[in-house]
Amino acid sequence: RAKEKGKDRYEMFSPVMKSQAESRWQLETGLRKAIQQQEFKLYYQPIISLRTHKIVGFEALIRWPSSDKGFISPGQFIPIAEETGLIVPLGEWILKEACCQMKQWHQQFPRNPPLLMSVNLSSRQFNQPDLLIQQIQNILKEMVDEKQRNSLKLEITESVMFNNVEGAIQLLHRLRALGLRLSIDDFGTGYSNLSYLHRFPIDTLKVDQSFVRRMHEENDNKYAQIVRTVVMLGHNLGLEVVAEGIETEEQMRSLLALNCEFGQGYFFAKPLPPCEATALLESDPQW
Ligand code: C2E
Ligand code: MG
Ligand code: MG
Ligand code: MG
Repeated sequence: RAKEKGKDRYEMFSPVMKSQAESRWQLETGLRKAIQQQEFKLYYQPIISLRTHKIVGFEALIRWPSSDKGFISPGQFIPIAEETGLIVPLGEWILKEACCQMKQWHQQFPRNPPLLMSVNLSSRQFNQPDLLIQQIQNILKEMVDEKQRNSLKLEITESVMFNNVEGAIQLLHRLRALGLRLSIDDFGTGYSNLSYLHRFPIDTLKVDQSFVRRMHEENDNKYAQIVRTVVMLGHNLGLEVVAEGIETEEQMRSLLALNCEFGQGYFFAKPLPPCEATALLESDPQW
């Protein structure tokens, strides 16, 4: 009987679980090595004014071209970097790298207003406020002059922000005090208590791509109406609104008709490696 029981117990750890645990462990080990060996790259996706059809800034998006598995998506490895705490050194690298690129573009392509650079923050970074402020202060002191700070934007997802409202408001004020701009990312997908929204000292709402994608799917315009409402909400609170995931000209036109002034998506450009993003700026496209 004991033997049978032992066997049962062994089988409770099913082959699927075993392979999941193994691949997770592999990913974690790979991640550590990749941080040491600086295997990561930042790609940049342009953000466009839907009124002038020109580039107003970029969002930095991390890429991991791993030596053995090809490109691994941030959706896969950012959660593991968060759980293991590896997001702290990784997040620092991302911020430094994005600031460095921003400085270079400001020099090479001076504009008024200057090109913006948006950087995503993870929940773990956001939930260690003192560490985050310290990191950012160091990076700013080292590489970004006062005037340029206003061109650096941090993106925080709605769900992270609303997870701890009072803490978030405090931290956002501290980030603002450093001169940075702030966006709520993936707006509309969390469970926001809208009555708190006006208390967040933010600049921008980013409408989640799931709404934009469905704008023309339905005959009854349901999603277009949701987008219209989010844009109005943002404007009534004095915020800028960016639509994510624009893939067609039709979507772009509808968004402009709904009064949304900024957009981002494959219709304009995919996230690009630095040299291609620079070439795009050089060609000064107007969509
Ligand atoms: P996000 O910040 O909401 O980024 C937008 C995602 O949508 C990006 O995916 C981008 O490549 C993708 N995208 C842009 N335009 C289109 C489009 O027209 N159609 C479709 N289908 N997708 C589009 P990506 O790069 O895979 O990043 C996924 C998420 O991973 C990001 O969502 C963000 O939450 C996180 N992430 C990416 N880079 C970083 C980073 O540097 N730091 C942190 N903490 N998180 C990051
Ligand atoms: Mg983002
Ligand atoms: Mg988003
Ligand atoms: Mg997202």
